[in-house]
Amino acid sequence: MPKKQEQKRDVIIVGAGIAGCVLAFHLATAGLKVTIYEKRAREDIGHDWCDSIEKKTFQLAGILAPKGEEKRANRDHLVILSPDLQSKIQLNFYDYWIVDRNLFQKRLLLLAEKAGAEFCFNTEIVEPIGKGMWVIGVKKRDGEIVTAKLVVDCSGINRILGNKIEILDLNLPLEDNEIAPAHRETHRVEDNILKWGENEISKKHLYYRYGYEKGYSWINFEKEDEVDVGSGVTQGYSKRKPKALVNEFINLHKNIEKEKLREGEGKIALRRPITMVWYGFLLVGEAACQNIPTVGCGVGSSMIAAKIAAEVIVKSIRRKEVSIDSLWEYQVRYTEERGRDHAALDMMRRKLLQLTEKEMSFLIEKRIISRSDFEKLIHAKYPRKSIIGMLFSAFKGISNLKLMLFMQKSLLQANRVYKHYKTMPKEYDAKKYHKWFLEQMYFFKEIEE
Ligand SMILES: Cc1cc2nc3c(=O)[nH]c(=O)nc-3n(C[C@H](O)[C@H](O)[C@H](O)COP(=O)(O)OP(=O)(O)OC[C@H]3O[C@@H](n4cnc5c(N)ncnc54)[C@H](O)[C@@H]3O)c2cc1C
Repeated sequence: MPKKQEQKRDVIIVGAGIAGCVLAFHLATAGLKVTIYEKRAREDIGHDWCDSIEKKTFQLAGILAPKGEEKRANRDHLVILSPDLQSKIQLNFYDYWIVDRNLFQKRLLLLAEKAGAEFCFNTEIVEPIGKGMWVIGVKKRDGEIVTAKLVVDCSGINRILGNKIEILDLNLPLEDNEIAPAHRETHRVEDNILKWGENEISKKHLYYRYGYEKGYSWINFEKEDEVDVGSGVTQGYSKRKPKALVNEFINLHKNIEKEKLREGEGKIALRRPITMVWYGFLLVGEAACQNIPTVGCGVGSSMIAAKIAAEVIVKSIRRKEVSIDSLWEYQVRYTEERGRDHAALDMMRRKLLQLTEKEMSFLIEKRIISRSDFEKLIHAKYPRKSIIGMLFSAFKGISNLKLMLFMQKSLLQANRVYKHYKTMPKEYDAKKYHKWFLEQMYFFKEIEE
């Protein structure tokens, strides 16, 4: 096994988003010397909007739950509306808080800073520096090279380091069907009464019009008289831009004031996570494709992944062994915690993408995608179905046999992915992992033919 030279700096993190800050906080707390490079200015990190963040992920990530102004709202329920707005399913369980992303991001930054992490803002990293198969540092835009025992890519969807490592899927570009452009705006509402189709909007619930324009649109009261209107579509699959969908909703509702209180947009990675470690190198957060593929939420997963990564990094650095063999524990633990559910959800998402809005509406109307299925797919869990369950579903939808057969096949394909992810090698073995890797790539290629 090749050996690495000793370095003064323990860890370099690229990107001071959610993943980077949570990781830096835990590493610095454990006494490691950490430097974070962030291309934006300190005052520009975060987003000018509120996110839905899974409640349980705060505790799992070792981060205190939001409170005060940071926690905008508790949501009692999520209501799923069909694309045609004719059917709705109210979930019994919705384990998310509505969190001010700017305030939360700034709290994470301060936590990491107080723990001793060093932040370098306005510093864009352009590529990784390698030595043999190892990643040993990074190159800044001004050409300066900095090195460390370990390098972590937390740069979000652009995966700035991973993209330049020609190994396995690390530099595999996201396809159109793996990207969701999204847009959201907050507006004041005059008399507080809103309708979506014939559905009256309750201030206690968040609403998803699921399957609309090959994505979903949402409405959520963040305050008594402020509403967040948003939309995400699959790139190249919808002719409409998410901003146009948001504007359309606002223009249709005369009691929504035109002035925007907050606004933001970006692209969301929807692919399952595959390879997350290499020699002296890890990817965490959206850079590792850790968003929930069926809803695009990624803050919770990024926090959990950062906590697991921190535990593995601390152990690895203490025993002076940062090769892929040692870091593999992160790959295995994250895959068990979320990765395999996300992989099966990614398969379901791709299959649902092949349906028309009419077919999606039918699946919701007939409860073929049931309340409990939605509860799971919103909370990062793959709703594994037994064959009996599938037959029962088929019975409910007998009037559309072709669609039911399609759904059954899709579930079998998603089940197969879930099972395959369970067989990912527990110890790193290049030959075995490559075999596993190629098989999972094949499952996803196969459905495109
Ligand atoms: C419109 C929209 C709405 C969303 N809503 C939700 C939601 O409600 N709930 C939810 O959970 N998720 C939501 N998401 C997804 C969520 O924002 C991501 O999952 C999350 O930001 C991932 O965190 P991260 O730390 O991995 O990446 P990021 O937050 O993207 O952080 C990456 C950081 O790296 C920096 N960086 C990038 N390149 C470089 C470079 N070359 N050099 C130095 N620094 C670099 C960036 O400036 C950034 O600060 C939404 C996304 C969008 C676009």
